[in-house]
Amino acid sequence: MKKLFINGEWLEGAKVTTTRSPSDLSDVVGEYASAGTAEVEMAIAAASNAAESWRYSNVQQRADILDKIGTEINERKNELGTLLAREEGKTLPEAIGEVGRAAAIFKFFAQEALRIRGDKLASVRPGLDVDVTREPVGTVGIIAPWNFPIAIPAWKVAPALAYGNTVLLKPADLVPGCSWEMAEIISRSGLPAGVFNLVSGPGRVVGEAMVNDRRVDAISFTGSVGTGTRVLAGCAARRAKVQLEMGGKNPLVVLADSDLNVAVNAAIQGAFYSTGQRCTASSRLIVEEGIYHAFVAAMKDKLAQIKVGHALYAGIDIGPVADQSQLEQDLRYIDIAKNEGATLAFGGDLLKRETEGYFLSPALFTDCHPDMVHAREEIFGPVASVIPAKNYEHALQLANDTEFGLTAGICTTSLKHATHFKRHARAGMVMVNVPTAGVDYHVPFGGTKGSSYGAREQGSAAVEFFTTMKTSYTFA
Ligand code: NAP
Repeated sequence: MKKLFINGEWLEGAKVTTTRSPSDLSDVVGEYASAGTAEVEMAIAAASNAAESWRYSNVQQRADILDKIGTEINERKNELGTLLAREEGKTLPEAIGEVGRAAAIFKFFAQEALRIRGDKLASVRPGLDVDVTREPVGTVGIIAPWNFPIAIPAWKVAPALAYGNTVLLKPADLVPGCSWEMAEIISRSGLPAGVFNLVSGPGRVVGEAMVNDRRVDAISFTGSVGTGTRVLAGCAARRAKVQLEMGGKNPLVVLADSDLNVAVNAAIQGAFYSTGQRCTASSRLIVEEGIYHAFVAAMKDKLAQIKVGHALYAGIDIGPVADQSQLEQDLRYIDIAKNEGATLAFGGDLLKRETEGYFLSPALFTDCHPDMVHAREEIFGPVASVIPAKNYEHALQLANDTEFGLTAGICTTSLKHATHFKRHARAGMVMVNVPTAGVDYHVPFGGTKGSSYGAREQGSAAVEFFTTMKTSYTFA
């Protein structure tokens, strides 16, 4: 059984969580200690006690440690990618890519630790110096979702440590394995005891305790809108700093002048790769009338070639759905779409494979009305809706007609429309002629409207959340 890491020691928890591969339910991936209230209390106390000395730690020490962590993750990319694919179900190449990204993130923030900047301002009062400096927030509680089991913990843990904060990491209960491996690497990196703590366990126990405890100065959360709203309320009640990255119902607009191959590749990868289980997935395909029939026909041809199967097998394009409850949710929305009168143009069936797993063929619905429930709510699975649009203006209006605002994409060969869309799409990230679901590890990430709350993640933007500003006046 793999233990919790609290105050520099490996400890047992209140329970044990056993994980199984969604590609093969007979494959037990691991047994992990799950924290109860006593372990969370120990972890919060440890992180809080370590915060004072870690905030003044040497930035070169932080940089060296983060670089070392990134190096080891990268060296073990294949092994950790295999674990990730087994545990979460994305294909092996996708999983190895995700681990590589986690390694790059640690290395990026190793450098960022050395770039913490301030500002010097002129004072309106003669003889005064005005300085603005950045300071660590203190102790940060990190709550992660299951769909990026190593990249998301990495993109929160690395900046938190780089900017001098102590960390409590709570991975999703479905996929504790990758965070455990990352914690094991971190445990040997030279960090003082208490600076990093792994507190796996259920959200209702571990997550809520972190959200409601005054010693936790900030909460960085990624997950569903429902949980995020609850986390926000808890943080607001005690005025704690909070950052939320939540769901999406991302549009991909396909204009009649687009290159059909580019559009179909963007749509297939954006909507269905990683089994559609990405917050950035383009599950709303808004297609201009002039290309509608050609696009749907090309999508059906391409989907017929897609291989769904065991995440570790060679040649597989789409792995299984991550677990039983997610599969039930996908099937429920497929039924809703049929009952709403959308046309099931492809897929939506449970598939039998040599192993027992949650295999679902990618479902493409056409002739969808923008008000249909399945076309408005986040499904978080391999289900996409094609919505016809009369022209560019209509497509833009449909793209923005959503409570979410994470990514928005357009396929077009018109510079005029691409430029207009970049300016007018109400989303935090806009993609032109590329899938909505691929982002770089070193640039700001986040959305607008109901998708996100608080400061951006990733890249140099992360300094906003993981530090506070101090303004000082000196008369000398
Ligand atoms: P979730 O059910 O909301 O869970 C997210 C995390 O919150 C998990 O660690 C969960 O723990 C924890 N949690 C549950 N109840 C809690 C509570 N009362 N207080 C504090 N924490 C609690 O989301 P998910 O199913 O893991 O992830 C899928 C969602 O994440 C989708 O909506 C997707 O769009 C979103 N997502 C967004 C982004 C982004 O950057 N915008 C990226 C990836 C995913 P347990 O696992 O123990 O329940």
